[in-house]
Amino acid sequence: MEEACIPSTHASKQCSGKEEKQRDIIEDMKLASGEPEPILASVINHYAQTLIQHNIRNLGRNYYVISYLCLISLHNKLHICIAGYPINQNFNYDALLPLLHFHLNNAGDPFFGNSLSLSSIPFEVFVLDWFANLWDIEKTKYWGYVTTGGTEGNLHGLLVGREQFPDGILYTSQDSHYSIFKIARMYRMKCVKVNSLVSGEIDCVHLKTLLLAHKHNPAIINLNIGTTMKGGIDNLDLVIEVLKECDFTRDRFYIHCDGALSGMMLPFQNGAPKISFKKSIGSVTISGHKFLGCPIPCGVVITRLKYIKKLSRNVEYIASRDITITGSRSGHSPIFLWYALKVKGLIGLQNEVHKCIMLAHYLKNRLRDAGIAAMLNDFSNIVVFERPLDDDFALRWSLACKGNIAHVVVMQHVTIEMLDSFAREYIQKRSIWLKGGEIQPPCIANDIGAENCVCSLHK
Ligand SMILES: *Cc1c(COP(=O)(O)O)cnc(C)c1O
Repeated sequence: MEEACIPSTHASKQCSGKEEKQRDIIEDMKLASGEPEPILASVINHYAQTLIQHNIRNLGRNYYVISYLCLISLHNKLHICIAGYPINQNFNYDALLPLLHFHLNNAGDPFFGNSLSLSSIPFEVFVLDWFANLWDIEKTKYWGYVTTGGTEGNLHGLLVGREQFPDGILYTSQDSHYSIFKIARMYRMKCVKVNSLVSGEIDCVHLKTLLLAHKHNPAIINLNIGTTMKGGIDNLDLVIEVLKECDFTRDRFYIHCDGALSGMMLPFQNGAPKISFKKSIGSVTISGHKFLGCPIPCGVVITRLKYIKKLSRNVEYIASRDITITGSRSGHSPIFLWYALKVKGLIGLQNEVHKCIMLAHYLKNRLRDAGIAAMLNDFSNIVVFERPLDDDFALRWSLACKGNIAHVVVMQHVTIEMLDSFAREYIQKRSIWLKGGEIQPPCIANDIGAENCVCSLHK
């Protein structure tokens, strides 16, 4: 069992050559009707170790798992700790382990009855109040719920917009998360793709042209509060200004803010753009497993109560109101979110944001000093640079790549040592890929701007 190679993504690459074994295990699983617990525990332990190894080089993903620092095997109370990680070593979710013995289900509307006594509604309402406060909306005026992640938040926010304006056209930039285009297809909404600037943010000049070309339909606008690839922040104030200039009055547009990662970071940075219900927005969503580091995918969506009143149906069976995307909803997720917010506190969150931003600048400067094209947007922890010419290298550091560019997302588990070792390896390998200067680096001015590019034309 020690060598068990159980389902995994990148992590299992290290086990290649053992696919046969993996298939055997899966076959065994189908046949067996209950296996001894110690064997299962050893599989889990082994898998946990694989994850720890993987996490040491996890640079490209916008989520982090803090609890990996000190995993406890439930079965034999074995501690697996890794040294050398300065952050918050005491912080993990072990305190919540007793809750794994319960099925907690928050089906229905968190503010409207609930026949299931095994739920975590009070925790959910605490979390929602916390976010309502963060985004400046009174308790009596908002509605929201804890979702399965950013995608479900987008599904809900855009549904509210669509129900408000059934003949509305969806506007979103080409740098939007793939979920937005999927949602447009699911809802059969007419979707107009808006150009992005080099930073990744929406091009308001193009938006204006498009709005004027479709001025007889209401506008449903998805704004990226931090794009996935470049961390570009759509300019909410400018978009509202453009709507006004195009004669879209408040009763003819709906703005949904997709703040999956950066939505959690902007409020803690001086001078950052402000997302607020005091402005003409309809909904905001964030992912709970990105900046907040919940070990289970989850998220939060907040909207205005007045929209929901129009939209909901009472359901006798759950003694609640049916207004969420899914039926049964995790009761554990709100408790994880509650715990993360409580244990970190506003100061803790602010410190984490500052550390990530500082290290992102450090990495960008290191790459630039070595003559490598790199870009870092204001208020962002996403460093964008030339795509490594070797896919194995990208995989080794779990870098996300798109076209000619790749990115590192500096999350809380990332240390200066990890960045140094990444930069050292990248600089060394790149010189081999470019044959010590014989080959010119590709031009990526269109992706990150001429001022950041180092190709023969731009350097
Ligand atoms: C990650 C992300 C999402 C989707 O979030 P999930 O929690 O993975 O569903 C949506 N929008 C943006 C901008 C993201 O970065």
